[in-house]
Amino acid sequence: DKKVVLITGCSSGIGLSLAVRLASDPDKKFKVYATMRNLGKKERLLESVKGLHKDTLDIVQMDVTDQQSILDARDRVVEKRVDILVCNAGVGLMGPLELQSLDSMRQILEVNLLGTIQTIQAFLPEMKAQGQGHILVTGSTGGLHGLPFNVVYCASKFAIEGACESLAVLLQHFNIHVSLIECGPVNTDFLVNLQRAELGDASLQQVDTHTVSLYEKYLQHCGSVFQNAAQDTEDIVKVFLEAIQSPSPAFRYFTSGVVTPLTQLKIAEPDGSQCIRAMSKLIFTAEEN
Ligand code: NAD
Repeated sequence: DKKVVLITGCSSGIGLSLAVRLASDPDKKFKVYATMRNLGKKERLLESVKGLHKDTLDIVQMDVTDQQSILDARDRVVEKRVDILVCNAGVGLMGPLELQSLDSMRQILEVNLLGTIQTIQAFLPEMKAQGQGHILVTGSTGGLHGLPFNVVYCASKFAIEGACESLAVLLQHFNIHVSLIECGPVNTDFLVNLQRAELGDASLQQVDTHTVSLYEKYLQHCGSVFQNAAQDTEDIVKVFLEAIQSPSPAFRYFTSGVVTPLTQLKIAEPDGSQCIRAMSKLIFTAEEN
């Protein structure tokens, strides 16, 4: 019997690659429900899967901020069960906090935090009744340590850590595994899709010049990190596969294969001050290029 997989946020990036990989599995081990908020964006997925995948792929509308759309998507699952739920949809918000509207903050929390939680909520009763299941969530190193100019994004991703850990403790009693796939920078549409203050924006004049110059440094750092160290979605998909295929999946997977020194520092140094200094040094005292 095929494993039934439902993935959120499949119109681009990690979700798209994962859907393609699982739907194209040579042994046809998976039936994939690739969900996306806007079905108008399904062409990219269709082009990427190439050929007919009638029996392994179904594309379904689902906006993780809309409970009815989650329930409608759930009703489209003909097998009436989901073995593997992948909560992947997410958006970013970058810039000086002083410039961010309450609406834009709410939007990030709605998608990243409540979207993930209410998706899990919708599939939980069936999974519990089945007595088996695996919930995977696309996590971020921004959910493990703070990043300047990413206040609300990090808050949403930290919150996901807490939500998943809380669920994992209970769900082991139902033979349901919870796994976070912790990603560093990945080459996706994430940077295009995120809301961010641009250096040329008139709004930046409302913030003090020291903040603006640190923001400029941050953007340079971010640019070079994405250029030099970003992983491809295929690398991330491999880690998802490892987690999916494991008979006893871990709670956390690090896509780069190592726990970053900053995360290690955080665990080793509970008072937190070294970690904050190290992050600041890493981002703001990089050589000018
Ligand atoms: P992406 O922008 O290509 O993909 C995110 C997807 O989520 C998009 O397809 C978008 O349409 C979808 N989405 C947004 N709002 C939605 C909603 N309300 N309902 C349903 N879908 C919605 O970027 P990505 O990098 O593939 O992002 C996937 C996940 O990976 C996100 O949770 C992101 O936070 C996380 N992540 C990304 C990076 C990175 O550097 N790219 C790093 C760490 C974590």
